[in-house]
Amino acid sequence: MIARAPALLSTLIGLMISSLTTALAGEDRPIERILEPRAITEQIHYFYGSLENRTQANLGMNNNVGFVITDEGVVLIDSGPSHHVAQRIEQAVADLTDQPITHVINLGSQDHRWLGNDYFLSQGAEILALERTAATQAEFARQHLDRLTDTLGAATMESTEPRPAPSPIASDHHAFELGGVRFEMIHAGDAHFPGDILLHLPDQGVVFSGDVVYTERMLGIHPWSNPVEQLKAFETMASWEPEVVVPGHGEATDLATAQQDTGDYLALLVRQVGEGLENWETLDEVVSRLADLPQFRHLRHYDDWHRMNINRTYLFMEASF
Ligand SMILES: [Zn+2]
Repeated sequence: MIARAPALLSTLIGLMISSLTTALAGEDRPIERILEPRAITEQIHYFYGSLENRTQANLGMNNNVGFVITDEGVVLIDSGPSHHVAQRIEQAVADLTDQPITHVINLGSQDHRWLGNDYFLSQGAEILALERTAATQAEFARQHLDRLTDTLGAATMESTEPRPAPSPIASDHHAFELGGVRFEMIHAGDAHFPGDILLHLPDQGVVFSGDVVYTERMLGIHPWSNPVEQLKAFETMASWEPEVVVPGHGEATDLATAQQDTGDYLALLVRQVGEGLENWETLDEVVSRLADLPQFRHLRHYDDWHRMNINRTYLFMEASF
């Protein structure tokens, strides 16, 4: 615990400085810039996805993808939105290490987390996904591929075959070790999609949270999201007291920032909507009561998502009230 602190501390200071500069920039970063890896430690890196929607410039890589270099191979954390981007991810990793990508973990089932699976399978990597994650991938595969093809064009998506993990793991907690690094894949509750998971590197104090955590930008609640369990998953993650959180979207940061941008937001929504339901408030009443939350206005896409998030949280919680 103590030994890892100095390296992580300087990483965190670096993260804070770079977040000042990127916050000022605020533009959609093209894929070339996204694929310049950022170091958390000497072994742990991530590609900082665009904070904007899926565009021709970012090629659908508007999420973070991580990787861990070990003496026995590289573990990639999510496989990117397409065959093409998967190839470029592989190249960007190869620029940093001679170790091949031997394992690919899927933290979730949204397009950019797993549509590169087929490419890495063809290169001999093993795909690691929990059964409940792979099941959601299969369910949404066609819809996600079609929408991404509409947005990015058939040429960009060429050769992309949706391939959920061929041998998914029948557990909600899968631990393994590679090259002396311990990895823990944990389903602590459904979140943005059913079957979203957290990845904990307990010896390094690092969590790759997938879509359980968003920083810098407003998280999104879909009709199939579960804001109540997402809050529980967030709390589970917080109980590990990680020193660095690599969110699904937004720059890597500390737990306090993750708490502010995601944990506090979910807690407020769930509590306030729950009280509204107790008090027989209508959907419209709850939406207008919570329509403006100044403490979250700094999050990018606040105007696009916040009211819809209240709306969907209400409908979700009402269904089990
Ligand atoms: Zn996402």
